[in-house]
Amino acid sequence: MPHISGFWDRPRESVPTKGQRNPYHTGRPRAQGVPRPLPSPRKPGPLPPEVLPFAILGAGAAGLFAGCLAGETGLPALLLERKSRAGCKLLMTGNGRCNLTKEVPVSRMLADFGGTMESFLAPALNAMPPRSIMAWFERHGVPLKTMGDGRVFPASEKATDIAHALVDTLRDTDTPICLNAEVLGLRKEDGFFSIQAQTFALRAKRVLIATGGVGYPKTGSVGDGQQWAKALGHTLVPYRPGLVGFVAEHPWIHRNAGRTLPRTTVRVRIDGHAVYEGDGQLDCLLWGLGGAAAYNASRYIGRECPRTFTFEWEADGQTFRIETPKTRPLKESIATIGGIPLEEVDPETMSSRICEGLYFAGEVLDIDGPTGGYNLSAAFSTAALAVRSARKSIRLV
Ligand SMILES: Cc1cc2nc3c(=O)[nH]c(=O)nc-3n(C[C@H](O)[C@H](O)[C@H](O)COP(=O)(O)OP(=O)(O)OC[C@H]3O[C@@H](n4cnc5c(N)ncnc54)[C@H](O)[C@@H]3O)c2cc1C
Repeated sequence: MPHISGFWDRPRESVPTKGQRNPYHTGRPRAQGVPRPLPSPRKPGPLPPEVLPFAILGAGAAGLFAGCLAGETGLPALLLERKSRAGCKLLMTGNGRCNLTKEVPVSRMLADFGGTMESFLAPALNAMPPRSIMAWFERHGVPLKTMGDGRVFPASEKATDIAHALVDTLRDTDTPICLNAEVLGLRKEDGFFSIQAQTFALRAKRVLIATGGVGYPKTGSVGDGQQWAKALGHTLVPYRPGLVGFVAEHPWIHRNAGRTLPRTTVRVRIDGHAVYEGDGQLDCLLWGLGGAAAYNASRYIGRECPRTFTFEWEADGQTFRIETPKTRPLKESIATIGGIPLEEVDPETMSSRICEGLYFAGEVLDIDGPTGGYNLSAAFSTAALAVRSARKSIRLV
């Protein structure tokens, strides 16, 4: 009989069989010996009982961290995530090693973000600087290591350790997360948010949109949060790829396809003037140039949008040039430029200036940093500030 293949042939992703390790959990059991307080009966208060105090839409880096801090600070929250597993993009970061932050002073990190992001991110990064991000993960059982250039990774070099620490903390703080829960729409009615998911609807007093940018859409980030914000009165900054390779035809690239240059200087010139210079790894690929040096240069192009420019790189004692190369598509972009305009969000609270009770964190905002742990730092620190402000604004009963 011919073998007919179907979905039953595919390995089950997340249901461990007996004796197999659950990929979601570290194996660290819930802390024993510490008696868990019984939930106190709900006292009458300003929220109707069926209204959630705080809903977090999206369980990526920002949403998960927000959920953990909400749980740890006593803000009852619920996370809704469209994928069957949380933090899909987080697991891909740093080639699976997760470069979670950069151990540099806040002033240096802010200057490297540059533009309007420098002042916008100052309150968030000052409240949750790289050292505090590191301390949080170390406190939650993830030893870290700092490279010579300041980039910080889990000592195990496993992004899964970062995801486990976050998911375990949700469990330990009794913060519920609902997977396979794609949110379809968000409306504001009678002072509450109405959240419509595929198979259920909820109401919430405060909502944090943490649905990410639009790069690597298979990880679940497809720009839904931006559309909900638009329907609630926000405008949107058009998307451009933030960190992406250059498509280029050049005899030197052709000859060197497959080669990685660990440290190369690259420049962007406009009318002969060097407007951007950086160095880092350059990967020669069949379609052009990738690696951190090319990605960071593409960020300049994405932000400034020059009509024509020269991209040049140094290799083998020579300087090579290509004229106005195209960048790879948005869906391959490591960070998204565009999204919720920073002027429409209060940098001191991460709350919307347009719609009361709405908060934003992470890449859904028009924030993108260079490679090296900047984008996760921004996701973690904006999430922390949003939770702190939402908690202050809710009179919990
Ligand atoms: C390949 C790659 C490598 C990277 N490496 C690094 C690195 O080493 N260091 C670094 O700092 N940055 C890195 N980044 C960037 C970093 O991963 C992102 O900036 C960061 O994940 C953004 O976090 P976020 O929570 O805002 O969004 P995301 O992590 O994208 O999370 C958004 C979540 O919202 C969910 N969601 C979306 N729509 C809905 C909906 N309708 N209903 C319910 N849920 C929804 C998504 O499924 C997703 O889980 C990398 C990115 C990529 C693609």
